[in-house]
Amino acid sequence: MSRIFSGIQPSGELHIGNYLGAVKNWARLQHEHESIFCIVGYHAITQPYEPQQLRERRQAMALSLLAAGLDPNKCSVFVQSQVPEHTELAWIFNTITPLGELERQTQFKEKSQRQESVPAGILNYPVLQAADILLYRADMVPVGEDQVQHLELSRVISRRWNSTFGRLTGRRTPDGGEEREEFFPEPKPLLTPTRRIMGLDGQAKMSKSMGNTVPLLDTPEGIWAKLRPAVTDPKRIKRTDPGTPEVCNIYHLHRAFSPPATVEHVANQCRTAGWGCIDCKKVLAESMETELLPIRTRAKELEAKPKLVGDALAAGAEKCRRLARETMDVVRDRMGF
Ligand code: SF4
Repeated sequence: MSRIFSGIQPSGELHIGNYLGAVKNWARLQHEHESIFCIVGYHAITQPYEPQQLRERRQAMALSLLAAGLDPNKCSVFVQSQVPEHTELAWIFNTITPLGELERQTQFKEKSQRQESVPAGILNYPVLQAADILLYRADMVPVGEDQVQHLELSRVISRRWNSTFGRLTGRRTPDGGEEREEFFPEPKPLLTPTRRIMGLDGQAKMSKSMGNTVPLLDTPEGIWAKLRPAVTDPKRIKRTDPGTPEVCNIYHLHRAFSPPATVEHVANQCRTAGWGCIDCKKVLAESMETELLPIRTRAKELEAKPKLVGDALAAGAEKCRRLARETMDVVRDRMGF
């Protein structure tokens, strides 16, 4: 069975953007692959933060992940800092990663432009990501399109380590060189089927820092309060103006939450000005409630029994520490430690 790894920052309760863009897919993949999902606190601290808030957000994220369908009997869910080998391997990879590769990363360019003083952690962020993945020698990584470049760097690091420290096999490569074992696999991207979810402002990707999200565990009233004023097709000014569903974020949310027949009906009603945007949003709210009610119910159960969350994280960390130790035993040996 192939192994997959993916990580998520401890940003608190999930919102529908990271649920649709990642976690819903993980809940499906856990039945098809040996699955490891990590709450990556060391990545989160590359931005200014409050320690107490980090603790609370980590707990809220763990609870959301389990409520959203990750089953500790089917996959491992754990907290990155409970497996110290992540940072050990990241340091080792730092020593073989070309600086130019890191400076070329689009996310580094974007994040560093927004800050006066740029911490080295932002530059080295994808090296830690490579360590997260390769520590478990994962074959595949479920990612959104915006993460493909970072994953490519993990592949570069994997090749570089193998060709420098992999044990000699005694065979020759096609070009006559000495062949080395491929200890680290080159992890392949497993592209998430749902396209990037835009925020309710219709301007940018849904993200907590932009304040344009719908929390996954929000009440129906809370969800409606956010959907009602959400941006739609800007050319539909009057109720009688026909719209273009493809340019409307509400339509894309229908595609994520509503059954195919409803999605078709929405597109038709929009194009013919058969209904107003509020009617359309009411149908979306109903579809969302159908999917989100069982998640909210499960979250309430977990809130009442926090030990279930703690036990799941402890079991995940224990398994991952064992796997991490196996990898690091080989890495240390091959590198002369
Ligand atoms: S009718 Fe629906 S899909 Fe069309 S613009 Fe309004 S909200 Fe968007």
